[in-house]
Amino acid sequence: MPRINDHFLKLKAGYLFPEISRRVAAFAKQNPEAKIIRLGIGDVTEPLAPAVIAAMHKAVDDLAARETFRGYGPEQGYDFLREKVAQFDFQARGCDIHPDEVFISDGSKCDTANFLDILAPGTPASGGNTIAVLDPVYPVYVDTNVMIGNTGPATPAGEFDGLVYLPATAENNFTPDLPKQRVDIVYLCYPNNPTGSVATRDTLKKWVDYARANDTLILFDAAYEAFITDPDIPHSIYEIPGARDVAIEFRSFSKTAGFTGVRCGLTVVPKTLTGRAADGSRVELHKLWLRRQTTKFNGASYVVQRGAEAIYSPQGRDQVRQTIDFYMHNARLIHWTLTDLGLTVHGGENAPYVWLKTPDSSPGSWDFFDKLLREAHIVGTPGSGFGAAGEGYFRISAFNSRPNVQEAMHRLRHKLKL
Ligand SMILES: *Cc1c(COP(=O)(O)O)cnc(C)c1O
Repeated sequence: MPRINDHFLKLKAGYLFPEISRRVAAFAKQNPEAKIIRLGIGDVTEPLAPAVIAAMHKAVDDLAARETFRGYGPEQGYDFLREKVAQFDFQARGCDIHPDEVFISDGSKCDTANFLDILAPGTPASGGNTIAVLDPVYPVYVDTNVMIGNTGPATPAGEFDGLVYLPATAENNFTPDLPKQRVDIVYLCYPNNPTGSVATRDTLKKWVDYARANDTLILFDAAYEAFITDPDIPHSIYEIPGARDVAIEFRSFSKTAGFTGVRCGLTVVPKTLTGRAADGSRVELHKLWLRRQTTKFNGASYVVQRGAEAIYSPQGRDQVRQTIDFYMHNARLIHWTLTDLGLTVHGGENAPYVWLKTPDSSPGSWDFFDKLLREAHIVGTPGSGFGAAGEGYFRISAFNSRPNVQEAMHRLRHKLKL
């Protein structure tokens, strides 16, 4: 009989999105006439940019002729895309990042999970790394560490033994302070999912200085960098001097260019970044990640990478920007309406998520979820699903059509009994 990976059994049973689906399905069954608007899951709604569509069509034609056909591509991605990324996403912002430090993939969710392959497994007590996460947190960072055996069991509060949780609260403006103790690895996500908070240059500099002083690896998730509107907020951790020696950065075309279904992302692993081997020697993480990817991954598809390349053309940049502006206008509508209703609202200014303090009339995250569904037929995401510090908060996503957002805001004003 095959033995299973028992670490999976530590995962919490009622995972957030299945539980939301269950409650929505039950409500829809009892109220078949209700027109439910989903402002819950963070998926895009608008079609791809015309420049992307044209590039992908052309790439398909390339595959139709012997002279231009492509089979397996480089596991790390095609140079045409790595060069554009290095130039436009990094060098244009003064970041010293080279094309051969950019690894193209089929999305950053899998990259954040796969990166654990090249780091020591186990709990801190068994020789593994001490790992810190923000709380509330993108659940993938936590669950992938649980699956691989880097944590103990879940506590009654739903946290996992062995992880260091850094609470993001209204008091710290949803940008947690540095850990009191030394940690080996920290996951940072800015602009943040779910709170919509951003890290200033000062905040990021504190993290980079901490990482350099403590030999800490920063795993920086910049999936939402394109939504930053404030010109003083850094888009990349590499805008901070010295970050090359301590940080990797995950990027995704999912939210930037509507690629959630197309699938393309990337991870930057600078060649100056090292980790410690059991014998105490320093090893380049770039070498290990290259080895990992060339063994376990065969590259993102040629057609998709041509599509991603097109967002760096003048037309592509313009079209992608328009769609992001469209979502950010939705975010402003949501922010205004909720503020007008007297609620306490965070986020939504440099990120497509509004983070709402639940009202006194229904303070629990799930209570408010049920109330919003019952009274306004709107689906959002309970903050507690992202971690203990998310209790008492609620996430509303700006990814939707304008008519749906307008209708949802109308219902908030006229149906929700606060
Ligand atoms: C959406 C999202 C991603 C992107 O994941 P993909 O696999 O590239 O679609 C990464 N990080 C966070 C925090 C996200 O919300």
